[in-house]
Amino acid sequence: MNKNDSERIESIFQSMNMISTDKPEDADVILMNSCSIRESAEDRIYSFSHKFAKLKEKKPNLIVAVTGCMPGRDKDGKLRKRLKAVDLFFPTKDVIMLPRWLSELNPELRPIDLEEDYLSVKPYTKTKFQAFVTLQTGCNQFCTYCVVPYARGMEINRPLKNILAEVKNLVDNGCLEITLLGQIVNHWLAKKDDKFSKENPYKQNDFAKLLWELNQIERLERIHWTAPHPIYMDEEVIDALTLPKQLNFIHLPVQSGNNKILKKMNRKHTHELYLEKIKKIREKKPDIAIGTDIIVGFCDETEEDFTDTISLYQECDFDISYTAKYSNRSGTLADKLFIDNVTQDEKKRRWFLLQQLMEDIVLRKNQTYLNKNVSVLVDTFKNGMCGGNSREMKRINFPGQPDLVGKIVNVAIIEAGHWILWGKMV
Ligand code: SAH
Ligand code: SF4
Repeated sequence: MNKNDSERIESIFQSMNMISTDKPEDADVILMNSCSIRESAEDRIYSFSHKFAKLKEKKPNLIVAVTGCMPGRDKDGKLRKRLKAVDLFFPTKDVIMLPRWLSELNPELRPIDLEEDYLSVKPYTKTKFQAFVTLQTGCNQFCTYCVVPYARGMEINRPLKNILAEVKNLVDNGCLEITLLGQIVNHWLAKKDDKFSKENPYKQNDFAKLLWELNQIERLERIHWTAPHPIYMDEEVIDALTLPKQLNFIHLPVQSGNNKILKKMNRKHTHELYLEKIKKIREKKPDIAIGTDIIVGFCDETEEDFTDTISLYQECDFDISYTAKYSNRSGTLADKLFIDNVTQDEKKRRWFLLQQLMEDIVLRKNQTYLNKNVSVLVDTFKNGMCGGNSREMKRINFPGQPDLVGKIVNVAIIEAGHWILWGKMV
């Protein structure tokens, strides 16, 4: 989501005739788009701000700004106080004010007019064939560990017609693959006056209906979305996984396999319910690749609780997990109600155990692709090798030419590693 917001910010800068540079010392404006999900992410912003403050001593006209999640959650100004030499500090939705504020600080920068809704700013993407499409901002779920509802506010869903218009425009400009974004993407709700096609087979779940509509867009080849919540994976959304443009991959965060911890996290699902969803998904799409998010070392997580996460991991036979060590976030319910009482060393140990399990499982699963053909959207070319993702979101490398970038090709797999499969074009 932050990447997509950065693409909008880049497009605002371009409309102001500004150009980007990789060298901070050359910049007139440095804007940091911050993430608050874990302490380490915010620590990076503090350390950058110290670096840029030094730069500012040499170049007093340099404008340093911070947007993203940190300003959103900094209700009492404590975070801003720790930042050095920051001129502007504003939540993401206020990026539409950026041109005016910048021109006030530096009259050489000419303001431009933007619509009030920041999502209406067209993101700038380096490649034409892949794009993010934000469906919703914020979140109402209040998982106890999570800062998102504070940093991003309550859930706001974009109207159907804005989403369809954005996707059609992308496709007209050569986009083949879209990634739909939302904190609970499968809880996207249509507006009262949003109109779906008469032929749309889904009746209950607005997100499933939206997926069907997007599947009707000619020349769009691939649809991916992240992140769904298990409690909203109903029959219709599971059925929509079989729609032709849907990638053969789903990322379904579970966070923990232990019911006591899940309850403490306010995840509103159990180990059993999650397994049932995975079973139903595999009934519809037996060869689907599945990814998840897990937090280890949440408050009061015992060794025994953790073994439930290990067993759930084995039962689900995940292809990938983004595992995080629990990081206490000020202002969250967990910060107020519980004690962050699992030691850092223990968090690390549990993290390594899951990592090991993931590597064992993924290698075995990747080997099942040997001698099979996969469809690859080529996104890079370097030193004679093309790279891209298969529909299972496996990373594929194969010898090819630069003109294959942006094309979808079939590749026969001849070698399988943990994170890369190698093959040859067929
Ligand atoms: N809305 C999505 C995920 C949002 S945050 C969902 O509900 O699944 C992305 C991931 O960051 C989460 O899935 C979680 O695994 C991790 N995360 C969130 N807060 C965290 C915290 N305080 N400590 C460690 N990991 C955290
Ligand atoms: Fe955070 Fe939970 Fe909302 Fe995901 S669903 S963004 S983890 S509060």
